[in-house]
Amino acid sequence: MKHLAILGSTGSIGQSTLSIVEQFPERYSVATLAAGRNIDQAFQQAVRWRPRLISLATEELAGQLDARLRQAGVTGVEVAHGSQGVVACSTHKDADFVVSAIVGVAGLEATHAAILAGKPVGLANKECMVAAGEILTAAARERNVPILPIDSEHNAVHQCLRVGAHSEVKFIWLTASGGPFRQLPLDQFAAITPAQALKHPTWVMGRRITIDSATMLNKGLEVIEACRLFNVPPSQVRVTIHPQSTVHSLVEYVDGSILAQISVTDMRLPILYALAYPERPASSLNFDLAALRHLDFEQPDLVRFPCLRLAFEAAEKGGAHAIALNAADEVAVQAFLDGRIPFLGIPRTIEGVLAATPEAHPATIAEVLASDKQAREQARALLA
Ligand code: MG
Repeated sequence: MKHLAILGSTGSIGQSTLSIVEQFPERYSVATLAAGRNIDQAFQQAVRWRPRLISLATEELAGQLDARLRQAGVTGVEVAHGSQGVVACSTHKDADFVVSAIVGVAGLEATHAAILAGKPVGLANKECMVAAGEILTAAARERNVPILPIDSEHNAVHQCLRVGAHSEVKFIWLTASGGPFRQLPLDQFAAITPAQALKHPTWVMGRRITIDSATMLNKGLEVIEACRLFNVPPSQVRVTIHPQSTVHSLVEYVDGSILAQISVTDMRLPILYALAYPERPASSLNFDLAALRHLDFEQPDLVRFPCLRLAFEAAEKGGAHAIALNAADEVAVQAFLDGRIPFLGIPRTIEGVLAATPEAHPATIAEVLASDKQAREQARALLA
């Protein structure tokens, strides 16, 4: 039985993780939940799962939840708040596996703390790896703590890497759906609205990641994530546009063999893989091979998707540039969603922030967060 700490329990990955727990009660239980701001959902989760500890974003929300739980006669659920509350969830003595699914660098401290506490991590939060991958992977290696990718592409790569040695890998191929604007005429990009960008053709995901898929910045973050997770340079990571999103990624070996992972586009599969690794429990997530008509692969167009070019440049420089890429994007995406900048303002903002970022390699989480903050301020200054 694995007792889970789920960081980001009210988000889409958190909810999918809870549905896995529901399906496999003999394998998994809930130890702690870090729930953010959605108090109604946090209340329902606390009542349903009775975690030892649940954390909310603010002291005020935590107070409200505590009162509601007492009113409902629910006892034994401790309520915490803030970043300390999330760390308390990820390092709780009763948790023996941490699902890190808080979007953004907000999940970084707690993920690092979990690794330091020796707890295996299922990582859905790519921003952690982008901002602090060197620090996290070094800590994990030192303590022999597995980091299992939940991001579907990296999960696919992890599976494909099980059949060969690191030195035998030629390229890691990350597939990308190409998002909703893969074929939109370039002269219409300036007029793209948030509503259009929020319609992803194959995956249902959170708002920021859906916009990041439309700009392909998401794939850029995944290139950096792959470099860190699998210890390869950016020159060994390639991106291919695969609109069907059926092949979740591929590994090309030096002998010319290419291995691909194919499955339904359902995040429960990578989550279950990460939770159960190295086992493979039987699931109902079947893929109908007979329904597979064709698979398309095409080269990404870096003029159409400047964010992908910027990400490869940031991947080469690493350190502060990877942090700035992620931070500037988060600020720019929010500005786009708020209607303050056009779609093309997103790459413009990122490019401006990257140009102003000095080459540096933060060595501690505190330095990473300071560098992140600086890049956000830079982005806001550019937008003002
Ligand atoms: Mg992905």
